[in-house]
Amino acid sequence: MTSSFSSLLLAEPLARAVADMGYESMTPIQAQAIPVVLTGKDVMGAAQTGTGKTAAFSLPLLQRLMRHENSSASPARHPVRALVLLPTRELADQVAQQIALYAKHTKLRSMVVFGGMDMKPQTLELKKGVEVLVATPGRLLDHIEARNVVLNQVEYVVLDEADRMLDIGFLPDLQRILGHLPKTRTTLLFSATFSPEIKRLAGSYLQDPVTIEVARPNETASTVEQRFIAANDDDKRRAICAVLKERGIRQAFIFSNSKLGCARLTRALERDGYRATALHGDKSQDERLKALDAFKQGEMDLLVCTDVAARGLDIKDVPAVFNYDVPFNAEDYVHRIGRTGRAGATGLAVTMVGNSDTKLVADIEKLIKKKINVETLQLAEPRRMRERESYREAPGREEVQRSASVHGTRPVRGARPVRSASADPFFDKPYQARESHVPAWDASGQGTPKAAFNAKAKRKIAALFKPAGSF
Ligand code: AMP
Repeated sequence: MTSSFSSLLLAEPLARAVADMGYESMTPIQAQAIPVVLTGKDVMGAAQTGTGKTAAFSLPLLQRLMRHENSSASPARHPVRALVLLPTRELADQVAQQIALYAKHTKLRSMVVFGGMDMKPQTLELKKGVEVLVATPGRLLDHIEARNVVLNQVEYVVLDEADRMLDIGFLPDLQRILGHLPKTRTTLLFSATFSPEIKRLAGSYLQDPVTIEVARPNETASTVEQRFIAANDDDKRRAICAVLKERGIRQAFIFSNSKLGCARLTRALERDGYRATALHGDKSQDERLKALDAFKQGEMDLLVCTDVAARGLDIKDVPAVFNYDVPFNAEDYVHRIGRTGRAGATGLAVTMVGNSDTKLVADIEKLIKKKINVETLQLAEPRRMRERESYREAPGREEVQRSASVHGTRPVRGARPVRSASADPFFDKPYQARESHVPAWDASGQGTPKAAFNAKAKRKIAALFKPAGSF
């Protein structure tokens, strides 16, 4: 099987778009799926995110739609011909952006609709006519019910991240949407795993599908270096900062298991000198898109997120993913680390392992079928931010002495004294972005993470697990 795009004989505007993207050869899912989709057959594809599956379905789909290409202004000449359904707004937005890039030299129109945004602008655009409609199920149903969109000329439907759509509970919505589509059509279903539920869904809505599996379900990309580091809650952040510094990493995703944890960690990292932004379900849609955009533009160093908010996000060249918490669900581990090492690039995935995480780590080990060694890191003693913040005020003698006893050292003349730790008022303040920033791990050394390092007193984190290799 050849992996050159030229072997596909794509229409010139599509071939040009591929060349603009700088793709040199097809990824395995593309090499397998594109020729099949071009024949109009149904496909059931198991491919982890980051394998290039968006192009695997959208390029052949656009190729098949080229015969409908026209420059008429009449909406009737631009009915919806392809429908792409995704579980989350971010994913829908991202896939729509990719499709727009592949279609940019054609006259085919594409757009995205998802919830959390005003219906009106979406309605206006829908009414102008669009060939490729990318949508989340709930919002699409709203538009169907409002008669803003007619789906009786749909030739292609793509159910992307189908496993996640079922997890979220979209099955009834999917059934209703599929009920509005013509019976004669091509259906493409992509899922990270082929669970019994997914097979049932495929059995009901796909006809004689060709099964394509490029990586075994739940396999992690071999290009991702996976590390597990023993760290208790007090040490996790410093351990992450230490790895960022050690490896000279400029941008990373950090996953937290809770929205609150996500918000707190973001603030703490900001105080450490990083440009960090949070992405979780309590943020408004606008804030989430802005956070994502700022990260993509390189205006943010760290994107701190929860699983639901981050599932499937494609941000190119994220060199590292950190798990501040071990995910409760081992499959989420695979999805999280799928953010790095995408499309053949190398990546680093580092998971912080607390002493109550033994079972969760064992679950991951079982799922990825790889032996997990939990390392211990040598961390420097932290210099507390809140203590440093209090330096501005002239302290009394008592404070100097208390500082000395806390740290077990004698107060040094001229040294900045510290106050005792108290409840951190920072968390009572509303979130505020930093105004200026020096990258925390700037190569110049000026931006050394403030709280992460102290070249002196080192201490070892207690090994929370048996020695490496005993897992
Ligand atoms: P996806 O799995 O569709 O989310 O794609 C992951 C990333 O791979 C996206 O950033 C694509 O732009 C990129 N990509 C897709 N196909 C190729 C290719 N043939 N060569 C290089 N990068 C690709």
